[in-house]
Amino acid sequence: MMPIRVTVWNEYRHERQNEHVARIYPQGIHEAIAGHLRTNPAFSVRTAVLDEPEHGLTDEALDRTDVLIWWGHLAHDEVKDEVAEKVRKKVLDGMGLIVLHSGHGSKIFQRLLGTETIRLQWRDDGEKERLWVVDHGHPIVNGLGLYFELPQEEMYGEPFDIPPPDELVFISWFEGGEVFRSGCCYKRGKGRLFYFRPGHETFPTYHHPEVLKVISNAVLWAAPRQGAEVRYGRADPIESIGKSPARDKEDKA
Ligand code: ZN
Repeated sequence: MMPIRVTVWNEYRHERQNEHVARIYPQGIHEAIAGHLRTNPAFSVRTAVLDEPEHGLTDEALDRTDVLIWWGHLAHDEVKDEVAEKVRKKVLDGMGLIVLHSGHGSKIFQRLLGTETIRLQWRDDGEKERLWVVDHGHPIVNGLGLYFELPQEEMYGEPFDIPPPDELVFISWFEGGEVFRSGCCYKRGKGRLFYFRPGHETFPTYHHPEVLKVISNAVLWAAPRQGAEVRYGRADPIESIGKSPARDKEDKA
């Protein structure tokens, strides 16, 4: 079987600006995720970052991507509209997209969801997060228990003004009392989109085994399926169409 071609995209700013974040992710968040995915021979993994030409997402790079993983926060506005639009079209055409954490504010996520504002409550005090699996049997939770916990995370709380997800996989509970829809699946065109909440840059979330397992499962789930070339517009009949009495009358009229 051909490996699934994954591109891990990262804004890669916090890691270069903040010593604490750099200590957690010395090679960047993208390399922490890519390094884990590379241990699976079913994946062929490359990375791309904001400051590369075309943000590392040239036509050629996107043509070689089955699943794109997206982490952004500080610089959503610096992502060029043309690139966001190109990625949106690719997803509609079947490319999988996994949007992580603060990627809810990205142009790509908002365009695909059809909304210009995706708001939520937040608090980066480093509290416990418990992610409850609410769709047992979903491919994205393969190998997980009833729930898993992250000892320290940023809180994201409801209301989260997203369109209702097609499938909800996780609900998070936070130590401070809030809850949040933290694993949301959507289909857009031929593409599959998964939003996964954890991953604030000041905590070592992308070294956590269960978080990495979810991302790896999500790549398998979001990968394009083989299918027929889709056609739209006027269709020639497959069978010859017999004349009904009503149509016969119309013809004579
Ligand atoms: Zn954050």
